[in-house]
Amino acid sequence: MTSRRDFLQTASALAAAGFVPRALSAHPLAEAPGGARGGASTVRARPCVVSSANGLRGVKVAYDRIIAGEDPLDAIIAGVNIQELDPDDQSVGLGGLPNANGIVQLDASCMHGPTRRAGAVACLEDIATPSLVAKAVMDYTDHVLLAGPDARRFALELGFTPQNLLTEKSRQDWLRWRARLNPRDMYLDYDGDIAIKFHTGTINMNAVTAAGDVASVTTTSGMAWKVPGRVGDSPIVGAGQYCDNTVGAAGSTGRGEANIKACGAFLAVEFMRQGVAPEEALLRVMQRVIAMTEDRLLGENGRPRFDLQFYALSKDGRFAGATAYEGASFAVCDEQGARLEKCAYLFKASERPR
Ligand code: ASP
Repeated sequence: MTSRRDFLQTASALAAAGFVPRALSAHPLAEAPGGARGGASTVRARPCVVSSANGLRGVKVAYDRIIAGEDPLDAIIAGVNIQELDPDDQSVGLGGLPNANGIVQLDASCMHGPTRRAGAVACLEDIATPSLVAKAVMDYTDHVLLAGPDARRFALELGFTPQNLLTEKSRQDWLRWRARLNPRDMYLDYDGDIAIKFHTGTINMNAVTAAGDVASVTTTSGMAWKVPGRVGDSPIVGAGQYCDNTVGAAGSTGRGEANIKACGAFLAVEFMRQGVAPEEALLRVMQRVIAMTEDRLLGENGRPRFDLQFYALSKDGRFAGATAYEGASFAVCDEQGARLEKCAYLFKASERPR
C-alpha cells in the first residue's frame, strides 16, 4: 500500500519531472491503496463492454484490455480516454463545448466493483482526462468528489498537465451561440445556421470481466452553454454511473437534470438486483424519470421534450441500452466484436413533442 505521505512526495517528484497523466494507470502509483486489483469474484461471466454510441472505438480497446487481464476500470478509462482526447468530439474532454462564459468545465465519475470504491470530479478546467482525475480521487483520497479550482489543483499536484481545452471549432460555436442569445446585447447577430440551443453529449462505459468483476465510468463536458458552475449527472455517483460487483453496472448520457432526480444508474442496478433483465430495468428507469419530470419539460401528450439514454450490463454479461424515443443506438463489444445496437424505447419518434 502507498501511504499518502509517500504518494504526495512521489507525486511532486513526478510533477517536477513533467509526468504525463495518461501513463497513470500504468504507473505503480496506479496500484490503488487497499489493493484495487484484489477481490475478484469466482463467478465465470461473459466479458463484455457497453457504452454510449460514441464509444464504438473505446469499447473495443476496453474489451481487448479486459481479455488481456487488465482491471475493468483501467480498461474502460482507456476506452473513454479516446473520446476525451479527441478534439472532434465536442461533448467530452478536449474540444468539449464550453459554458456560457466560453470556459470548458468537465465532469466525470467512476466506480470499481471489486473494491466498492468510487471517485468523481466536477467543474474541472484545463485537464483533458477528467476520468483519470476521478480515478485518482478514488485511489489517493478519502473522498469521493472534488470540485472546481481545488479539483484542478489536486490534478496538477498529481502531475496532470494543464492545457487549453477550447478548440477553435468549439470557440466559434460558442461565439455563434452568444451572438444569437439576445438581439439587444452588444454582439452582432449571426445569421448562419446554428441550431445548437442545448447541446448534450457524454460517454458512459461499463464493463464486466470473465471473473464477473464490474466497473463503470462517465465523462463529459456537460450541457453546452451551461451556467458556469453547473454540475450535471455525470459526476454524481448513482446518477451518471453506478456499479455493484454483485449485480452489474449502469450509466447515462443526455439531460443530466432529469436523471439526477431519479438516481437513474443506481435505480437501474437496483432493478437488476431484484432480478429484472437489463433492458426492462432501463425502461423502468426511463418511466421513473418521466414520472419525476416537471410539466414544462413534457409535451401535452406527457412525453418528454429532452433526450436521455441509459446503458446497463449485468454481472453475467447481459446488456441493454434504452431511451424514451425510438432511433438511438449504443455500442457494445463482446466475443462477437464491437458494434452498434439499437436502444430499447418507450415511444415512437413521431410521439416526440414539437
Ligand atoms: N449528462 C450530461 C450532463 O447533463 C450531458 C450529456 O450526456 O449530454 O451533463
